[in-house]
Amino acid sequence: MKKTILFMLSAALLFGGCGKKENSDNPLLKEWNTPFGTPPFDQIKTSDYLPAFEEAMKVHNKEIDAIINNKEVANFENTIVSYDLSGELLGKVAGVFFNMTAANTNEELQKLEEKIGPMLAKHADEITMNAKLFERVKKVWDNKENENLNKEQSMLLDKTYKKFVRSGALLDKTKQDKLKQINGEIKTLESKFSANLLKETKAYSLVIEKKEDLKGLPQWLIDQAEATAKEQSKAGKWVFTLDNPSVFPFLQFSENRTLREKIFNAKNNRCNNGGATDNKEVITKLTNLRAQKAEILGYNTFADYVLEERMNKTPQEVYNLLEGLLKYSIPAAKKDVVELQKLLDKDQKGATLEAWDWSYYADKLKKQKFNFDAEETRPYFEINNVRQGCFDVVTKLYGLTFTERKDIPTYEKDVQVYECKNEKGEHVGILYWDPYTRASKVGGAWCNSYREQYVKAGKKITPITTVCFNYAKSPSGRTTLTSEEASTVFHEMGHAIHTLLSNCTYISTGGTSVPRDFVELPSQVFEHWCSQPEVLKMFAKNEKGQVIPQELIKKIESVAKFDVAYGMTERYAAAYLDLEYHVIKSKDKIQDVTAFEKKAMDKIGLISQIPPRYRSTYFAHVFGGEYAVGYYSYVWSEVLDADAFNAFLEAGNIFDKTTADKFKNEVLSRGSTDDAMEMYKRFRGQEPSIDAVLRNNGMKK
Ligand SMILES: [Zn+2]
Repeated sequence: MKKTILFMLSAALLFGGCGKKENSDNPLLKEWNTPFGTPPFDQIKTSDYLPAFEEAMKVHNKEIDAIINNKEVANFENTIVSYDLSGELLGKVAGVFFNMTAANTNEELQKLEEKIGPMLAKHADEITMNAKLFERVKKVWDNKENENLNKEQSMLLDKTYKKFVRSGALLDKTKQDKLKQINGEIKTLESKFSANLLKETKAYSLVIEKKEDLKGLPQWLIDQAEATAKEQSKAGKWVFTLDNPSVFPFLQFSENRTLREKIFNAKNNRCNNGGATDNKEVITKLTNLRAQKAEILGYNTFADYVLEERMNKTPQEVYNLLEGLLKYSIPAAKKDVVELQKLLDKDQKGATLEAWDWSYYADKLKKQKFNFDAEETRPYFEINNVRQGCFDVVTKLYGLTFTERKDIPTYEKDVQVYECKNEKGEHVGILYWDPYTRASKVGGAWCNSYREQYVKAGKKITPITTVCFNYAKSPSGRTTLTSEEASTVFHEMGHAIHTLLSNCTYISTGGTSVPRDFVELPSQVFEHWCSQPEVLKMFAKNEKGQVIPQELIKKIESVAKFDVAYGMTERYAAAYLDLEYHVIKSKDKIQDVTAFEKKAMDKIGLISQIPPRYRSTYFAHVFGGEYAVGYYSYVWSEVLDADAFNAFLEAGNIFDKTTADKFKNEVLSRGSTDDAMEMYKRFRGQEPSIDAVLRNNGMKK
């Protein structure tokens, strides 16, 4: 997942100024005299954020005033470029704050986030609805034929002008005020959704007291559950949680069907249990507000509004993509049900296969068919080896190298910092590596930035990025991953490379500021290397340093196409659900979230054994932030990445220099300096089709 910090940003009016003395001591506002201007985490206190935001917004407003009050006629440099560079301090403060609310949060920060979200939304609105500023932007836009702009500059102008129009710059005052109010409410609801989800996820634990209830579980999982129990002052018991590295292996291995059902239902019903942390009402309000917003801006639906800026330009294009794939994945999943049911029949005659049985019986079937046990591979995927393997692949493909820096402050002792250099030994950027789960961390895995790459006064500003995961740290000191988890490491590193390789001029066109349905291409394509025998030999070594056996690699390859219909279907279903929520009109306010979800899933003929990857009440991508009408981008990126990786396969070498250079020069380093499809076609020579995905998954010849 790729998170982006919102450079949205003025509520100086609301929160008055703060004393001068206080601000000059605020580490967030001072110049960072750290290596490469990295955040001084060792000095920042929670109480520093609010005054820093207030001051940074004031500074930003002054920068905007300077653009407006410029006596020269508006031109590209004095308006568009100056606007692109404005808000640098705010970006710096927001960079630290939003990284911390995800990677190292606490109740105080969460409360602050609920306050700061709407503050920033209001600030951003005041800028994008600033009539005098827009007048200048429009003047440049109207005069663009005479500006003699290059491709990147013309993309920046286009992006800037559209940003204002899409934020309501062309609306009358009454509509603008209404829009501002809606934006503030949306932000508040999104923060509430996420806070509720974190609360319910962290609050749950399945406590096991009897040893016989651990039947089927591998020793490492039992050890992990024992450690969790100790942390929760339940020594002598075993605690399983709803964090992915706990609940998923439990569902895969536990022989106890009742307990599987119990934890599965807890996971599947997060924030759907009534009470203060139930998210159904949040969804009702949020989808309605989004529909209202789209209508005020002159769009048919919120989906139309969002998709205008994507590679897939209309809801119909996305429906076509998803329906085209579901047509293959659902029949394949139904065939799998028949196979799995046979195994269940042997254990429990008369029982019907349920969602909580899938992973368990699929694993059994896999062992039977291929004599394969995913746990057999785990010793070969030690987390630091996986990281190093990732680094080595990046070096071979793109010439980047990574060296640990112990002199850069971090926010937590397990976080490591790496300096990235290019082939010439020049500094490229900084990467934070934050692998382990903890109570203060939001679930899942992501890549985020503290600073993007751009050019200021002729000087290249280098990027600072971070990858975060939630792997359970082994008490033994040797944390191992499944091959799937290792692949997630490659995924997030793919985003980090996209950030690090950026070679653009402007903040808004650089790095990962690409269309949302393009942003997962660099990450997903990088996953392909993780399963290549040639790469596995580089890093997949057990405790004794023995390389993963050839026979095991063969098995991994042969099981790769096994049980794929479930994963594909649950992802396509979630993407479809996301879209369904955003093609409704404001007058058709959703009354019953549960019924709405069911109707949407019935439309695609989803089977009861496969719930959408995210059910509505915990679909954080869509309701907790910025991925609304964006979940399909994972699907679209699969189409892109399968097609892109084929370029390396066709070259006959996964490290083919020409192909790697082309991918780096046409895609990875280009940000959004050109139309995404045009960039892709320059790399690949043609548009991608869904065939490569279907073929990779054995669903089409
Ligand atoms: Zn991603």
